[in-house]
Amino acid sequence: MGRYTRYSATATVTINVPFSCVYCGFASQLEVTEKATTSRQVGGWGHSQDVAQREWALAHETAHKRGTSIAKDTAKLVPCKQCGKRNEGAVRSHVIFIVVASLVALGISGGLAYGVAAVDSTRPQVWMGIFSLLAFIVAIAIVFGGYTTYRDAPSKARFLDAQPAPAPAYAPALAPAPAPQPAQVLVRGPDGRQYPGVMVARAQGHVQVAFANGSTTWVPETGVTWAPRA
Ligand SMILES: [Zn+2]
Repeated sequence: MGRYTRYSATATVTINVPFSCVYCGFASQLEVTEKATTSRQVGGWGHSQDVAQREWALAHETAHKRGTSIAKDTAKLVPCKQCGKRNEGAVRSHVIFIVVASLVALGISGGLAYGVAAVDSTRPQVWMGIFSLLAFIVAIAIVFGGYTTYRDAPSKARFLDAQPAPAPAYAPALAPAPAPQPAQVLVRGPDGRQYPGVMVARAQGHVQVAFANGSTTWVPETGVTWAPRA
């Protein structure tokens, strides 16, 4: 094995994806932030600055792609802000992916074990043991990674829906108004006499007055006299 240099890069990726709950219909924009680290192993030592810059840039590009991919997976697993449910289909796909990836890792390890054991037939048990252990570690890592993606999804995401409007400064006005008391009024008729009535409505400087005979009329507020409460 020759010497090599490892170029590592970490990328923090924030994506915006639409969110729509299949259960309650809540729709919003979801902001998901994920971090990914990748490293490139490049043969040689003491690379020129140009080479190093390029390798770091490539490592960063890969980290960014991976972060974006994880963020997209995370977005699918975020519980609805309104009803709290996670999309069952997305959770199922996530679990299936983890199981399949683990099986693939086990299969590859098994294949390698057989391949190496065939070449070095003197110690097949040793190779089987080594690759079984390797397969076990990789499978555990895959399952644990999948589990943490599921577990941490809520903390990686933020709903960007319109915030509830702040309470208006005139909040007291929103308190239920007291039921209007029927106000006794006196309306001056064309004959100059005052007629008693009851105010039933009031709008735009006018008052609707109901009289004892059942008729109602709109008169300017200035044309009525407010009778003192009995
Ligand atoms: Zn919902």
